[in-house]
Amino acid sequence: AQLDTLDLIVLSIILVGTVAYFTKGKYWGVTKDPYANSFANANGLKAGKTRNIIEKMDESGKNCVIFYGSQTGTAEDYASRLAKEGKSRFGLDTMVADLEDYDYENLDAISEDKVVMFVLATYGEGEPTDNAVDFYEFITGEDVSFSESADPPLGNLKYVAFGLGNNTYEHYNSMVRNVNKALEKMGGHRIGEAGEGDDGAGTMEEDFLAWKEPMWAALAEKMGLEEREAQYEPVFGIVEREGLTRDSPEVYLGEPNKMHLEGSAKGPFNAHNPYIAPIAESRELFQVPDRNCLHMEVDISGSNLSYQTGDHIAVWPTNPGQEVDYFLDILGLSEKRHQVISVKALEPTAKVPFPTPTTYDAIVRYHMEICAPVSRQFLATLAAFAPDEASKTEMTKLGSDKGYFHDKVSKYHYNIAGVLRTVGGGQKWTSIPFSAFIEGVTKLQPRYYSISSSSLAQPKKISITAVVESQVIPGRSDPFQGVATNYLFALKEKQNGDPNPKPFGQTYEITGPRNKYDGIHLPVHVRHSNFKLPSDPSKPIIMIGPGTGVAPFRGFVQERAHQATAGETIGKTLLFFGCRKRGEDFMYESEWEDRKKALGDSFEMINAFSREGPKKVYVQHRLKEMAKEINELLEKKAYVYVCGDAANMAREVNTVLAQIIAEQRGVSEAKGEEIVKNMRAANQYQEDVW
Ligand code: FAD
Repeated sequence: AQLDTLDLIVLSIILVGTVAYFTKGKYWGVTKDPYANSFANANGLKAGKTRNIIEKMDESGKNCVIFYGSQTGTAEDYASRLAKEGKSRFGLDTMVADLEDYDYENLDAISEDKVVMFVLATYGEGEPTDNAVDFYEFITGEDVSFSESADPPLGNLKYVAFGLGNNTYEHYNSMVRNVNKALEKMGGHRIGEAGEGDDGAGTMEEDFLAWKEPMWAALAEKMGLEEREAQYEPVFGIVEREGLTRDSPEVYLGEPNKMHLEGSAKGPFNAHNPYIAPIAESRELFQVPDRNCLHMEVDISGSNLSYQTGDHIAVWPTNPGQEVDYFLDILGLSEKRHQVISVKALEPTAKVPFPTPTTYDAIVRYHMEICAPVSRQFLATLAAFAPDEASKTEMTKLGSDKGYFHDKVSKYHYNIAGVLRTVGGGQKWTSIPFSAFIEGVTKLQPRYYSISSSSLAQPKKISITAVVESQVIPGRSDPFQGVATNYLFALKEKQNGDPNPKPFGQTYEITGPRNKYDGIHLPVHVRHSNFKLPSDPSKPIIMIGPGTGVAPFRGFVQERAHQATAGETIGKTLLFFGCRKRGEDFMYESEWEDRKKALGDSFEMINAFSREGPKKVYVQHRLKEMAKEINELLEKKAYVYVCGDAANMAREVNTVLAQIIAEQRGVSEAKGEEIVKNMRAANQYQEDVW
């Protein structure tokens, strides 16, 4: 029987519906984040993009894709740098891709003339970054199934891998290690070593630079590439928009996305879409000259944001005015700072990292990490645009000589404008295409803070406890200052009556783009964490959090006090807190007294004041002194929580705990270590360290 037209229409509707159902929208251009599209649209990118990487590469004529799994922007930055270098030095047709934007079932169908690079950061306790979770689960899954079912499945895959990790964490670089293992097991051919950068040792950049040279050599040999003199080619084009001024309604002055521009910012609020939250209250936690510690209450009642005790709040900072001025000045852009420009990707696969049309001022103030450490490789790139021969020679030397770079740049914590100013003796660097900065300077990143309140006690108010970052650098006249914490400091000053706050001489555009942050508002989002109290409040807990590491424990103790007041039975709640002196930097001193009233004997605080006696006493020492009690609590399945300094304290606490177990139970130290390891695996030992 013949089908008539109506039958055909009905059938196709059913078919389309069925495919849509089974693919859960994967092939329909639906991204997980509804705002990703509005952001992409704002940047002039097409909505409804494919999730098929092979199709994407074929369509855009690419033979090399660099995927990144990034949390703080560094992995993304390295991916861009590899893409640029592959193109300029070796003539590869490169593209950068966010791991979350593609599917991987067809990775086995990749052709042999292509290469896939992975730049993978490990986050927290050996976890993938948020954007790499799906990829990681797929690729390391028990039985990965690919579309072609070849044997071995990834026999055609040529790949390159670099990991970003921190050796102070237990699962050092586990992302790159596990992904590499999985790819190898499925027949993938790795080119060069699987590189590992170590943030813990502070050598990330140098590890990356040292890894990539032999990798390029191996890749060139394998793919028959010829190295050529690197030519800088801009990825972004800048168009001055004569018809627009900064008062034109469609011009972004720092608004994070279209909804914020149109004044209709609605939830969900997330890493792409901050909530402009009022700060209900802010104060300093102690009064010591040159050391400032802030307490802030962020009001989320006007949003649908929620949090759980132990989560993190992300703060979206604004760069200090003086640094914005320096940056624009050294590039000769001061006069043009409010010129409206459109930024367009000259490559179909490149994404403009901020919404446009916008102004130089807005880009530099709200979207670029202009104060960050400088990349040595970036200086080499900029050498070609130096204002004179001497500066060019100096930039080339800084770019190629690790020791020299350290002595002249890193040692002084210079940022990019500082380097250009020093090298060129104040001359303007007007020949550098602005695109080079969009490519070479990381996006301004939100900073995370361990929420220091309990969601049970105050569900709509998030507390932050942050120490203001300010360091005296020998040989440098002004102190080095952290971006976000000094911005918060300025907000606090303003809220407490100073109309023009200038922490350490810095000013901030506190009222935000178009005064939208006026009345002390702060752009934030919440990041859920695994750092959680046991669901049963009668379970004993041991918390170790010196300095600002006490932040989440203020929340934990507040929660337990709240539960106690409501009549629940509370288990032993032991808090180890350390600071310099009781009279100096003992945070929340009176609050602990109040909690004690609610919790009674179940709450005990043990203090380590490092500078009170002749010998320095730290929380680790106090732990040791209480070995017997600690072991008894552990035998009762107490949960252990460590928060704060990852480099030293967290590691030492781990060691001390293993020693306590060994001594108290009469087992070897190795066995003690193993027990702690098992506690970690069972979530009975949790860390929130940075
Ligand atoms: P940044 O400007 O980001 O500088 C930070 C550091 O980077 C500097 O100290 C310096 O070492 C280096 N640096 C920056 N620029 C340069 C340069 N040009 N040259 C050389 N080195 C440079 N902090 C808290 O106070 N309380 C908390 O509760 C808290 N919780 C956290 C939870 C998590 C999960 C994480 C990841 C971090 C947490 N932090 C917390 C740290 C916080 O996120 C910030 O890193 C910190 O406040 C500093 O931010 P900043 O913008 O002021 O400093």
